[in-house]
This record gives sequence, C-alpha cells and structure tokens, in this order.
Amino acid sequence: MVDRGALVMGIDVVVIGAGAAGLMCAAIAGKRGRRVLVLDHANKVGKKILMSGGGRCNFTNTVTDPDDFVSENAHFCKSALSRYTPWDFIDLVERHGIAYHEKKLGQLFCDNSSKDILGMLLTECERVDVEIKTHCKITSITKSLTDPDAPFVINSSSGVIEVKKVVIATGGLSIPTMGATGFGYQIAEQFGHEIVATEAALVPFTLSKEQLQAFDGLSGVSANVVVSCENQSFREAMLFTHRGFSGPAMLQISTYWKPGKNITINWLPDIDALVYLQEQQEAKPNTELKTILSEHLSKRLVLSLMGGGIENKSMRQYTIQQIEAIAQKLSCWEIMPAGTEGYRTAEVTIGGVSTNKISSKTFESQNVSGLFFIGEVVDVTGHLGGFNFQWAWASGVAAGQVV
Ligand SMILES: Cc1cc2nc3c(=O)[nH]c(=O)nc-3n(C[C@H](O)[C@H](O)[C@H](O)COP(=O)(O)OP(=O)(O)OC[C@H]3O[C@@H](n4cnc5c(N)ncnc54)[C@H](O)[C@@H]3O)c2cc1C
Repeated sequence: MVDRGALVMGIDVVVIGAGAAGLMCAAIAGKRGRRVLVLDHANKVGKKILMSGGGRCNFTNTVTDPDDFVSENAHFCKSALSRYTPWDFIDLVERHGIAYHEKKLGQLFCDNSSKDILGMLLTECERVDVEIKTHCKITSITKSLTDPDAPFVINSSSGVIEVKKVVIATGGLSIPTMGATGFGYQIAEQFGHEIVATEAALVPFTLSKEQLQAFDGLSGVSANVVVSCENQSFREAMLFTHRGFSGPAMLQISTYWKPGKNITINWLPDIDALVYLQEQQEAKPNTELKTILSEHLSKRLVLSLMGGGIENKSMRQYTIQQIEAIAQKLSCWEIMPAGTEGYRTAEVTIGGVSTNKISSKTFESQNVSGLFFIGEVVDVTGHLGGFNFQWAWASGVAAGQVV
C-alpha cells in the first residue's frame, strides 16, 4: 500500500481511468511485462460497462466498419479497428466462457450480465499483476518539456508518482453521476492538444410544450421509422417519451443533430406512401383515411399525425393533389426538437481530444512523448450498437502494445 504523499517509483505505466479502454490497455501492457498502475477517482471500476446495454453490455458489433464512427478525421479510427477486430474480442469472451447472443444488426450482448465483461477484464489484469486503485484523486500531471527523458510527475491522493508513460483513459462527459469528468480534456489542453467541441450524443430529444401537446397520450408508444438529419438516415424503432423522442432511431440521429435543425421522419418506411394511398383510394373509396393509416401505424399515433394538419375524410373525397400532400407529409415529416436530455442521460460524448496530434497507430501524443489518449476521450464516437466499446478495446490494445 502507498501512503498519501509517498513517492511511488518502479511503475512503468500509469493508466488514468479504470473503464473499458483503460482496463484493456492495462491488461495488454501487463502481458508484455510492464508494471502497470491504474488510477480511478470513482469508488468502483468499470461503472459504464456495468450499466451498458441495459445491464447486458452490448460489447461489440460483428459488422464494425469505420463508417460507424464520427470524427473530424474519418480515417483516424481505421488502423486500430483493423488491428483489433470484433472477432479478437469475441475470442477473448469465449476463452473466458462468457455466454452471449446476437440481438440484431451484429450487436452482441452477454446472456447473463455486463458483470461478466468487467470480471473478464479484471481477471486479465489480475493475471499480469496490474495494480488498480480506486478513490484516487489526481490533482496534477506535470513533465519537464525541455528534457524528453524526464518522467511525468503525478500528484494524487495515492502519493506522488514518477512514471515515464501515462495513458489518459478518462472517457467522455456523459452521466456525471457515474464519475465522468472533463479531466482528460484538461490534461490534453495542458500539453498543447486541441479539443474538438464536445456535445452529448446517443441521447433522447426533448420537445417543446406545444409539440408535446400534439403527441399527447403517446408516451410509451413505439414506431418503426426512418429518421434523417444532415444526410444521415437510420431505420430503427423510435419511442415517444413524456419529454420527447427516444429509442434507437432517435439516439442514432442525435449524434448528427445540431440545435435549430429539423429532423425528418418517414412514418411509413416499409411502403411507398403515395402508391399505397392511391391504391387504397381506388380499392376502399368509402373508408376513412385514419382507418387506412391505422393498418400501418398505431391508432393513437395516426390521430396525432392527423392533428398536424391532415383532414380526415373518406378516401374518395381527396383530390390527387391532397393525396400527394398527405403522402409527402407522412414520409417527410419535419420537426425541430427543442433540445436533448444532455449529458445526464447521453450514452456518449461526441468530440474530444483532437486526433490531429495523436498517432493513429500508437495513440501517443505527438506533442509530448510518453503521453497517450485512448477510448472515448478521443474525438472518435461510434454509432449505437456496440461500436463504442469496440473502439475502447481497439484503442486500448493499440496503446497497450507500445507503452
Ligand atoms: C448508459 C450507457 C450505456 C451504454 N451502453 C453501451 C453499449 O451497450 N455498447 C457500447 O458499445 N457502448 C455503450 N456505452 C458507451 C460506453 O460505455 C463508452 O463509450 C465506453 O465506456 C468508453 O470507454 P472509456 O474507457 O473510454 O471510458 P469509461 O468507460 O467512461 O471510463 C472512464 C473512467 O475514467 C474515470 N475517470 C473519469 N475522470 C477521472 C478523473 N478525473 N480521475 C480519475 N479517473 C477518472 C471514470 O471513473 C471511469 O472509470 C454506454 C454508455 C452509457 C452511459
């Protein structure tokens, strides 16, 4: 045990942040015989792993592709993702005898609990004598910039630590109650790195009072839609909440949305709305529009959508122009969300430490040798579906192989 204020030496690598990326990096570095110390200010390690995937951790996605990630530099993620693939992680999961299943679209979840994934990482760390300290407050990290061989000096509640390699794996800003802080960005700026503006992502939308009134009574109702914004589209389920829109479709598009922008919803993604309405007009001229639409959408949703300026009458009473206008409205329904629920409920943070001055091979800073940034703290954000963990594993392994 280290006394408060004592000088800690004999450590090769300090990893700050005992989350997905940090634990993976520590285990890999430990396997290479490096003496690794992991520091975390929280009372428990891997909290986001535990709460992920509704408690079952969507730990990877078998169809991971660089296109599933957002960054100012779309190429940055390619190297690490190609060197540590979902199949490498699946192999590790299988070696630990963890049961898993594919839910949809390549998304792999634990059969039992996220605890299995955290337990696996901790076992990997334990096997190679990685030391992990929780409740550790880090007050400063300094290094002489004139002497490249000088160690980093970490002032922490676990002592003053001198070490040659420091890995920042402190994650993003989402869910502050789980221990998220902007510490990684602060250290990056201190050592001359730029920060790409951060924003909550994979987050539910909030609506204005008037918008919520239009969708009154729909909280808890879901619909399969295509939602679009900024040339991106996702075909998934959406969910009405008492504050706005959630569900996978909305979480995905939130990554691309900016305040003041509209999102476009196609409520009838399985059919060509115009062709369908024209066919129905011919086949069922005396049936009302709301009855026709209820064949594809929930009755309550139909009433809400029609409240937004679509008059209900028998199909034969509509002119061709009106049918065209209704089809257009149902397939390109535009709405401007009031905002998002923010970091309180967001799954990730978009933006972060700019990739400009970081090696995509090793994750080492090009400003300061021996300083590394991995995981979500870096300006690489995955779509929903296990991509963010795959990024944490891949970047953690890449740095772990060189620190
Ligand atoms: C509710 C929720 C569900 C999610 N579900 C999924 C999912 O199913 N699949 C998926 O791929 N992704 C999911 N994610 C995203 C995923 O959890 C993150 O992208 C991933 O954990 C990032 O890994 P990381 O190691 O970079 O950061 P984290 O896992 O967040 O770890 C960062 C660590 O750094 C520590 N830390 C922070 N500041 C300091 C400081 N100042 N000093 C010391 N330590 C510090 C924190 O306590 C934490 O332990 C989910 C996120 C949330 C919030």
